[in-house]
Amino acid sequence: MNKFIPLSVPNLRGNELEYITHAVKTEWVSTGGPYVNEFETKVAEYVHCMGAVSCQNGTSGLHIALQVCNVIRDDEVIVPTLTFIAAVNPVKYIGAEPIFMDCDDSLTMDAHKLLEFCQNECNFYDGKLINNKTNKHIKALVVVHVFGNMADMEKIMDIASQYNLKVIEDATEAIGTYYTEGKYKGKYAGTIGTVGVYSFNGNKILTTGGGGMIVSDNEELLKRAKHLTTQAKSDELYYTHDEIGYNYRMTNLQAALGLAQLEQLEDFIEVKKYNYDLYKNEIHEIPGLRILDFQDSIRPNYWFYALYIEPEYALNRDQIIQYLATKQIQARPIWGLISDQIPYEESQTYKVEKARKYLEKVVNIPCSSNLTIEDARYVIDCLKHPELM
Ligand SMILES: *Cc1c(COP(=O)(O)O)cnc(C)c1O
Repeated sequence: MNKFIPLSVPNLRGNELEYITHAVKTEWVSTGGPYVNEFETKVAEYVHCMGAVSCQNGTSGLHIALQVCNVIRDDEVIVPTLTFIAAVNPVKYIGAEPIFMDCDDSLTMDAHKLLEFCQNECNFYDGKLINNKTNKHIKALVVVHVFGNMADMEKIMDIASQYNLKVIEDATEAIGTYYTEGKYKGKYAGTIGTVGVYSFNGNKILTTGGGGMIVSDNEELLKRAKHLTTQAKSDELYYTHDEIGYNYRMTNLQAALGLAQLEQLEDFIEVKKYNYDLYKNEIHEIPGLRILDFQDSIRPNYWFYALYIEPEYALNRDQIIQYLATKQIQARPIWGLISDQIPYEESQTYKVEKARKYLEKVVNIPCSSNLTIEDARYVIDCLKHPELM
């Protein structure tokens, strides 16, 4: 029996144990302690932005990001339908409503449809984008850099500035991805919009067990994010509070892991690129299968690999997943469309077409940064010789 090859698991072989041990020995295990501030500084340095505010996970980071963009109850927010549901749920936490956009062939938000929607389905007056259907103010959009790819930020930022929309970059999957050419050359995913959010969940490229980070180049916004994530205290000693805050700050234990992980991030990306290229070249030779590209103008972080299945391949999506499971290889379909989920059945959608197609034809295959070349070759070999179940 071959060993089990998981989809995406943590890789904790650097200084994790040393830093965690230090946190335990010094008894700084909660939200105080030196590692939290240090990790914030190091993440901000790594992505070249003004500052970073840690949080408990990506979801809480997105919850705060919407608030620092002044999204309030009854506002509307444009979101993608093809992504993980945590990109959208925080819109509902606030009492605002999502409007679901389609993806393009990069699996990220279709900028053409976004523009079309703003032009044809809305009215722009008094600096506000108003949805014709609901008469509500569309204040922001959440753009997700799916699988470590980059959404078309040039177009999206142009549209956002034209219609006065705040841009929340859900870069939870894309820490390390940056533009290598164009207007935003050198800019990292998460640092182009109004505010960006990273996740350090266990399956992400960099993990703190659970954790997240808010980044921005706007000092006021960062201050407010820190305030909201730390219970909105206006006085530390007397415990006075000027608004409703949250207990969202990261702990020193999480940050200890994060610092050790960040030291290895570029090495992780190198391994992921190597395995991506290997999969891509070999799978290219298999009729009916290919690995989806990342954008040309970026250095991706290669977080997840998307295997695209044409009808000519012997197995369809579900059969591939089942077949690989019998070979001890974990593969997964991408997420069910968010606009199809029970809590969002009544939500507005705009021309969702491609997302459905990709949902039916894409599976993710093992991509951990500790995946060995032998593991990758075994996966490829199994795909070369499909067996009908
Ligand atoms: C992982 C992820 C999140 C949520 O991050 P958590 O840290 O798990 O809360 C949000 N959006 C997307 C697209 C993600 O992949």
